[in-house]
Amino acid sequence: MNGWLEEKVGRFPNSPGVYLIKDAGQRVIYVGKAKALRQRVRYYLAKEGLPPRIKVLQSHMADIEYIVTDNEAEALVLECNLIKKHRPRYNVNLKDDKDYPYLMLTGEPYPRLEMLRLSQKKRRSPGSGKERLFGPYTKAGAVRDTMRLLGKIFPLKRCRQPLTGEPAPKRPCLNYQMNRCLAPCRGQDQVPFSEYRQLVEQIALFLEGRMSSLEQDLTWRMKEASRQKAFERAARLRDQLLALKEVAAQDQKVLTIKGLDQDVLALVKLNQRAAVHLFKIREGKLLSQEHFPLTGTSGLTDQEALAGFIKTYYSRVESSPAEIILSCWPEDT
Ligand code: SF4
Repeated sequence: MNGWLEEKVGRFPNSPGVYLIKDAGQRVIYVGKAKALRQRVRYYLAKEGLPPRIKVLQSHMADIEYIVTDNEAEALVLECNLIKKHRPRYNVNLKDDKDYPYLMLTGEPYPRLEMLRLSQKKRRSPGSGKERLFGPYTKAGAVRDTMRLLGKIFPLKRCRQPLTGEPAPKRPCLNYQMNRCLAPCRGQDQVPFSEYRQLVEQIALFLEGRMSSLEQDLTWRMKEASRQKAFERAARLRDQLLALKEVAAQDQKVLTIKGLDQDVLALVKLNQRAAVHLFKIREGKLLSQEHFPLTGTSGLTDQEALAGFIKTYYSRVESSPAEIILSCWPEDT
């Protein structure tokens, strides 16, 4: 171990913060958080008594840096963001993470729904920052089915032409005649941004599994449209409501009587492999199940592996449920 590194760590403050372990190429290979930085980081410099996993990490360690935070909670948020940014080799990670599909509501004035993978997102030019991501999901086929279903119920824009609210030079395509698109290409006099925004919010409610809120919203808007004698809009909302009720009736798996939003996480380990099975329950019903194989768990206890998954997974999702039920109590490394 380099004497200068020991000296450097000896000058670390003993306050809460995040540390970044780097290899000889200055790549971040591990990110961790600590209540007391100096005390925690010294652990990685020990000459004996370390578990094999830390010994491997130590053999690649060339430098350590730190960022001080005001408290441990702030350190946890920063740690999650840094893990998301650097994807360090020795942190617990989702296997094939970049290939998991997500659904994205684009950030255009009239958003579209797209399926994409993180590897594609990185290759694209930066968006407007208003994109909304849902996922990660593990089954691309199920994501495509969901997109098809949503395309039938909610008439979002389907083409990639940029629209500003002015009528487009070309006439609406066949999707408009088939009631598959509201045709915002006709301009915002025909399709006001506010009306289109409602559609987008309804899709977000659907993808978050908030079916009761969605049904209530559609019912209210349908009655309002009838009251205003906007019969075409009222008929569209009625059809959406009926289609949704049909979907909900096919999928009535009530799990809890409390109607809670919960994620249930179960860690499964077999030989050297580990995975987390995630059940998403929204409004008391099972919304989806996903299975995430993990990397970087060799030599970790179940508690440590689960803690690593929680940090990685929840740094990638847009919203978290009120409760998370775990197969074991997570323990920080
Ligand atoms: S109707 Fe207009 S906005 Fe909709 S997909 Fe066709 S061209 Fe695009």
